[in-house]
Amino acid sequence: MALEFHNSLTRRQEPFEPIQAGAVGLYTCGPTVYNIAHIGNFRAYVFEDLLKRTLLYCGYRVRHVMNLTDVDDKTIRDSRAAGTSLAAFTGRFKEAFFADSQRLRLAPADVYPAATEHIPEMISLIQTLIAKGVAYQADDRSVYFSIARWPAYGQLVHIDRDQMRTGERVSHDEYAKESVADFALWKAWTETDGDVVWDSPWGKGRPGWHIECSAMSSRYLGPHFDIHCGGVDNMFPHHEDEIAQSEAANGCRFVNVWLHCAHLVVDGEKMSKSLGNFYTLRDVLDRGYSGREIRYVLLATHYRQALNFSFRSCEDARAALQRLDACRSRLEEAARLPDAGVEGARAVGTKAGAAFRAAMEDDLNISAALAALFDLVREANRLLDAGSASGTGATALLAALQDMDRVLAVVTPDDGDSVPESILGLAAARQAARQAKDFRRADQIRDQLAAAGWVIEDTAKGPRARRK
Ligand code: AMP
Ligand code: ZN
Repeated sequence: MALEFHNSLTRRQEPFEPIQAGAVGLYTCGPTVYNIAHIGNFRAYVFEDLLKRTLLYCGYRVRHVMNLTDVDDKTIRDSRAAGTSLAAFTGRFKEAFFADSQRLRLAPADVYPAATEHIPEMISLIQTLIAKGVAYQADDRSVYFSIARWPAYGQLVHIDRDQMRTGERVSHDEYAKESVADFALWKAWTETDGDVVWDSPWGKGRPGWHIECSAMSSRYLGPHFDIHCGGVDNMFPHHEDEIAQSEAANGCRFVNVWLHCAHLVVDGEKMSKSLGNFYTLRDVLDRGYSGREIRYVLLATHYRQALNFSFRSCEDARAALQRLDACRSRLEEAARLPDAGVEGARAVGTKAGAAFRAAMEDDLNISAALAALFDLVREANRLLDAGSASGTGATALLAALQDMDRVLAVVTPDDGDSVPESILGLAAARQAARQAKDFRRADQIRDQLAAAGWVIEDTAKGPRARRK
């Protein structure tokens, strides 16, 4: 099977065909940097990372653009409340976003355009929309996109045009579907904007949120590109508005494939700042889970299904990764031994690899992909138990694991997963006690380690500490 995605635009799963053979233009709506992103936001980014890595795995070159929304209603509101300049305020959150992205192993985008650095592109796009007759300056001096003059509006969320109250206007960046109305492209300066202001042909003001993504995507990917993603809450109005602006201005199709992930929920409710039911990455790390474990939780549910976050799921991720680590360590040791069972091991690796690839190609079917990974682990353990996967055979199985990891990025432990000094000290003391044949002392230390959550395994290379 070839690569297929569920396209939100057609609501069908379709074979993926890039505009230009072998290359993919990918735009993912990035964070609004007015606070520390919560793990719901990171669900979206991890899904996009899985998508991007799958494209690379399938042999495509990917040009990935992720914007940073560093001026909008929320960034202005909160920077003013904090009494800091917009740039200083958003700068902190940009840094936090990059640090968190790294902990979650998100492959960096090629470009992270910031909205405040692309105001001229936005102004020029708005000028085009006015020239084409689909945008106008209203009495409040703001510039709006006219829904009535753009009949194609509503294609993504299949809006019933009869229910649209044309002629009404909204100046907020976010609004409900019931209030489909002309939306702001350029917002005239008001008192609440403080010193956040740019000159424009329509007077002083600032861009609306939606125009930012239209301007930055065409700047870096051209007017027509392959894939655009975000969380499902971005579909309306944000993506619908992006389509309208871009297609009206450029006179061509905007995006071929739209992918949206379902929400991360807590007790059935969307995790969000406004509901106050959110965890940041730091919150979960502080509970003792590693970035790798949290990445696993965020990727293990198919992107179009709601992901119900719980600490139980973090425990399950830890258990799954420990199984993976134990198998990988055994394979690494076995790889240093003379060859045995090479053909059998190769066959297991090839079969699991093919199942994994087919699963990911099927609209990122992660459950089937992880099943293929753990089939590989089970089969490898079986061969290792029988002494029939060593030398080149073990190397082949390791290579199969590493190959899957180009997509998953969970096989290698975090530095944070490494054994703390205190535990290493206890492990050494236990070893010394054993060598001195003081087995009571050795057992005491073993219990101490167990109480701290560690077990000592005796391996060919000597004792090794592992989390329980
Ligand atoms: P924002 O910073 O609010 O623009 O959101 C950044 C990204 O996170 C967008 O793609 C949103 O759709 C996504 N998002 C926000 N909340 C959640 C959630 N609870 N689950 C999944 N994605 C979310
Ligand atoms: Zn966007």
